[in-house]
Formats: sequence, C-alpha cells, structure tokens
Amino acid sequence: TPEDRAIIDGFQPDEEEHAAGPLPVVAIVGRPNVGKSTFVNRVLRRREAVVEDTPGVTRDRVAYDAEWAGRRFTLLDTGGWEIGAEGIHLRVAEQAEVAIEMADVVVFVVDAIVGATDDDEAVVRLLRKSGKPVVLVANKVDDQRFEADAAALWNLGLGEPLPVSALHGRGSGDALDAVLDVMPEASASGKALPEGGPRRVALIGRPNVGKSSLLNKLAGEERVVVDDFAGTTRDPVDEIIELGGRSWRFVDTAGIRRRVHQTKGADFYASLRTQAALEKAEVAVVLIDTHESITEQDLRIISQVVEAGRALVIAYNKWDMLDEERRFYLEREIERELVQTQWAPRVNMSALTGRHVDRLTPALDTALDSWDTRVPTSRLNAVLGEIASAHPHPVRSGKQPRVLFATQASTRPPRFVIFASGFIEAGYRRFLERRLREEFGFEGTPIEISVRVRE
Ligand code: GDP
Ligand code: GDP
Repeated sequence: TPEDRAIIDGFQPDEEEHAAGPLPVVAIVGRPNVGKSTFVNRVLRRREAVVEDTPGVTRDRVAYDAEWAGRRFTLLDTGGWEIGAEGIHLRVAEQAEVAIEMADVVVFVVDAIVGATDDDEAVVRLLRKSGKPVVLVANKVDDQRFEADAAALWNLGLGEPLPVSALHGRGSGDALDAVLDVMPEASASGKALPEGGPRRVALIGRPNVGKSSLLNKLAGEERVVVDDFAGTTRDPVDEIIELGGRSWRFVDTAGIRRRVHQTKGADFYASLRTQAALEKAEVAVVLIDTHESITEQDLRIISQVVEAGRALVIAYNKWDMLDEERRFYLEREIERELVQTQWAPRVNMSALTGRHVDRLTPALDTALDSWDTRVPTSRLNAVLGEIASAHPHPVRSGKQPRVLFATQASTRPPRFVIFASGFIEAGYRRFLERRLREEFGFEGTPIEISVRVRE
C-alpha cells in the first residue's frame, strides 16, 4: 500500500529519473547451482544497491532495483524461480527463454569448475538466437588456480569468459563493468517509444480472465503489429490499436497472444509477464473474471500495478454471465477486497459480446489525466493547511508533529513530499492521502506521500 512506502527523511525528489522511462533489465541466467543467486546477492549488497525494497512483495520477488557505478537497472534473478513458484522445477531452457525475452542484457552464469554442460549449450543457442548482449560469467573461480577452467569456456563462442567468485566477490566488479559497457541507457522497449507517441496500455490479469479476447475485440480488423526491436528475431511485442479516434499502444501483447502454456508454472510465467508489461506501460487494465470469486492472485496483480506506480483501470469482465445472485455477491466481494483501490475507474464489460468495451477509452483517459496531474505548490499547501488545522495530528508524548510544508516532487504518478516537525504516524498519512484524494480526485492513479522530518 502506498503508505507503507512512505519514507521518513530519505526522499530525494528526482523528476528526471522518472521521466527517463523504464530502467534497463539485466537478467541473470544459468543452470541451477551455478551461483546465480549468490551473484545477485553480491550485486545487491554492494553499496546499498537495493534502491527500493518494497515490503510485502519479497515473497515472490524476482526483480530488484540495482545500481552499479552510478547507473541503475532492474536485476532479474532467475535463481529464485525454482523455489519461488511452489517448488516447480522448470526446465533450464524454458526459464532462460522467458528471462532472455525480457532482458536488455543477459548475464549468463556458468560453473567454471564443472564446465559447460548440455543444459548450458541449450542456453547458448537461445542466447545466439536472441541477439541480445551477453556477459559470460565463469563462476566459482575462487582463486587464481581455477582461471584455466574459466578460459576453457571460450569455446562456448560467447566471447571472453569473465572469471568470478560470486561467493567471495572476486571479479564481480569487472563483470558488472562489462554489463554496463553493453547496457542501453533506458530499457530498449522504452527507448523505442517516440516522445508524445500513443499512450502505453498493459492488459493484465490472471490466466483465462479474457485478456486475449479483449485484445481481439479491441483490435478488430485494424490491428497493426509493431516490431519494436528491429534487427533481431524477437517476436513483435506491441500493437497499435485505434480507439475513440486515437492510437493506443498495447504493450507486450505477444505474451497474451502466444500464451505460454506450461502445465506447471503457467501462473508463474504470467506473473513475470505482468511485471514486464507494467515496466513498459503507463496505464494498466486489470481484468477480473466476475463469474468467479475474486482471488488472491487478482489482488496481487492489482497491488503490482500500485507498486509499479502505474495508472489503473479495473475491468470486470464476463459480465454477460452474471445472474442476480452472483452480481449481489460480486458487489460484496468488491467492497470487501478492493477498498484499497476504490479510486480506480471501473468498467463492467464483456469481451465476448463487446458490452461496454467502448467505456474503456474514457476510463483510460481519466486514469492517465490523474497520473499526469501536477498540483501547484500554493494550492497544495493551502489545502493541507486547512486539513491540518481542522484535524491536527494527535499529540504523542506531549508533542504534536506539525505539517510545515509540502510539495509535489513528481508526476506519473503524483508523488508528494511533506515536511513535518516530527514523525507523522501511518494512520495520519492515510488520512492525509484520503483528504488529498477528496480534494484533487486522482481517480485512477496511485499517489505516494513521503514525509521528511525537519528537526
Ligand atoms: P543458483 O541455483 O544458480 O542460484 O546457485 P546458488 O547461488 O544458490 O549457488 C549454489 C551453490 O554454489 C551454493 O552452495 C553457493 O554457496 C555455491 N557458490 C555460488 N557461488 C560460488 C563461488 O563463487 N564459489 C564457490 N566455491 N561456491 C559458490
Ligand atoms: P486470457 O487467458 O486472459 O487471455 O483469457 P481468454 O481471452 O483466452 O479467455 C478465456 C476464456 O474465457 C475463453 O474461453 C473466452 O472465450 C472466455 N471469455 C473471455 N471473455 C469473456 C466474456 O466477456 N464473457 C464470456 N462469457 N466468456 C469470456
């Protein structure tokens, strides 16, 4: 939830950072036990590399914000995948394929002591096909004696194997330097987007909620497939669709159309794709299957959108299947489960019949307008002043923290920094968020409030 994110005295307003688009994605790929997770931990531990470790998502966390030599990137850890997803053991190549698809740079980790195996060779073939930049890490080279083992990996044909001991840190800095050498400034997908181009929409939701049905309905005959990655063999990922007389860019549609259908782990792939799509999107349409009960997974997807700071529209799909009774229970479920995101525009629709599909465009517009909103500092402070004088922060240990001043640090989504004379309790922050929403609307966008304490 946004209030959990509030950072006390550590917030650095940095508009440019958010304007720069999605961070490049560095995926760590390799067989089990070669040391992927050890390497990831090594990277993250360096220089407080975890820029944003949001509580509550650690459970199935696969992507981290990392930093090296002043450059930020998203680090994809496939090492946790086996344990992360209900003990599934996905084939190495399957895993690698998904990771490579999402990556801007691939760090391929091989156990130098064991040498290259058939599994490694299979990954090499995928890497070649992808055309993505690869950094080959020859891991477990704990001291100089093993450097010859590392050199043997030249014959994988991926260039120089970099000898690393992820465990002891030996060579890991050089490996990261090599990553930065080939890393694009922003994520390739983000970079390809023209300034002021069509707004970027992600259709997300758990399997079978109707994503591909909706995509087909929206696209109709006039579908344009966009290959955003010229010169590589990658699948086309985005589609431009005309809606309400304007173009919209639906991101990552390849994942929707070519549905990855493992019997095991399908949900897990779906959640990775959700993350990838959110990275590229400005607004997400989360589809809910109203015919079934709202599930834990639906809620998790919605909070993924909020965590990612994207605008949100909730589409209640399969409305054609509802009878009176189900509708009654659905409304109760929505009241109970989705109170946190009451601010999201709601569309009751049927991707099958097309009912109310035309209401998506106005909902997207509303959400994106809110996402882009900038509240003038004077107005913000006038409103906060009124709120705080009518309902001051409760007195704690004889002290009363006062809101001194506030400013909007950035848009997309709106982020506010409140300067206060003392610690502002979570409850009061929630109260402030509620009142700011009452005042300014923000329909369809998460907002963030950080507090800085001025002694
Ligand atoms: P993953 O399955 O690829 O994520 O591999 P892990 O990171 O879990 O590592 C597997 C095992 O290899 C663990 O016991 C690690 O301690 C060990 N390991 C990882 N890196 C090194 C290394 O550089 N040197 C040595 N000697 N062992 C390592
Ligand atoms: P995805 O996995 O989210 O892409 O879901 P699909 O679009 O493949 O839909 C899964 C199933 O639900 C298919 O059998 C669709 O025909 C059906 N479906 C999708 N939308 C609707 C809807 O609005 N009403 C009804 N009755 N069925 C739908």
